[in-house]
Amino acid sequence: MKIEHIETFVLKTPLGTERFYSSQAEFPERNSMLVKLTTTDGLVGWGEGGQYGPAEPVKACIDAVLGPQLLAMDDAAPSVVWEILYARSRDFGQKGTYIEAISAIDIALWDLMGKHYGASISTLLGGRFRERVRAYGTGGYYTSVDFDRERDLAELEEMVRRYQSQGFGMLKIKLGLLPVSDDALRVERVREVLGDDFVLFADANHAYNSSVAIQMGRVLEATGFGFFEEPVPPEDREGYARVRSRLTVPIAGGEAEYTRYGFRDFIAAGCADILQPDVCVCGGISEVRQIQAMASAHNLRVIPHAWGSGVGLAAALQICASLPLAPYTYQAVPAENEPIIEFDRTHNPLRDDLLVSEFAVRDGYVDVPTGPGLGVKVDMDVVAKYAVA
Ligand code: CA
Repeated sequence: MKIEHIETFVLKTPLGTERFYSSQAEFPERNSMLVKLTTTDGLVGWGEGGQYGPAEPVKACIDAVLGPQLLAMDDAAPSVVWEILYARSRDFGQKGTYIEAISAIDIALWDLMGKHYGASISTLLGGRFRERVRAYGTGGYYTSVDFDRERDLAELEEMVRRYQSQGFGMLKIKLGLLPVSDDALRVERVREVLGDDFVLFADANHAYNSSVAIQMGRVLEATGFGFFEEPVPPEDREGYARVRSRLTVPIAGGEAEYTRYGFRDFIAAGCADILQPDVCVCGGISEVRQIQAMASAHNLRVIPHAWGSGVGLAAALQICASLPLAPYTYQAVPAENEPIIEFDRTHNPLRDDLLVSEFAVRDGYVDVPTGPGLGVKVDMDVVAKYAVA
């Protein structure tokens, strides 16, 4: 495969009255950075780089630095390209923008390789363990920083009932914008509304130091939550390990971690029970494979983080299809040893409209595309509609 043409797109859509807040930020818009690669044979592959951070630097990284190197390669096989691009940017790009740019290129190259061989990415990775993946809805964001307890709880209740009516049996809510005492009320309300059988997760977006995280974790334990995501900042590996050693609720993290090297250290420090590499962030399909191997050797679960456009979601689904149970049992249990897919349900046309056929939840599951490569078709009219650069 020789790459003849590289196009990069920054897509943006304002959220208007649908804007929301995590513990860290206001989300007034959604954005995605997509790359489209065309081979000398006329095959087209798509990739995505980054999650919610600014998309422009990732695009610049490809346009100015990595893209010209890719065009100069005679055989653009993804793992070979990965090692070359990483080695050439190692001295200044071990985490962050450069790795997000490499992720986009890597996903697009796997898409192309799949189209070249007529096989899905998960097939090329060694085969599919499952044809559909149990989905958990991501929501429960804060709708205002002008906090009114009764209004917040009422809106949260309305939201989780809506998810339930859409067929979800698993849901993740946000924590960390409010004092522990107020967030505890949110946690308890959601449990009360959905009942004991509903699988619930919580995500603090690294809002806490380890001692406050342990206080919050006690509430999650008492309400039977399935994991506690990003309790402390990603750099605070001692804090992660302290929280994990004090709590029985499983600790999840890794969406802000990069490459096999970052995950090596994250695992070695005993930070988490569940690793959450984002395929658009951590280095692409090639690198998730390396991270998965380490996770498997440590008997840790991998539940990919997915918060991007339809392209990123397709890549995460291909990964989910290729992950073995961790560990193996005769009968799989979603989330406990079988991978599940994060299915963000906040308003985002870049996720729902970008592909010719939209991903949908049926009976709580999302089908893994069976077509070659990512198995999806990007609607160029939608790209043109949201492209800003
Ligand atoms: Ca998260």
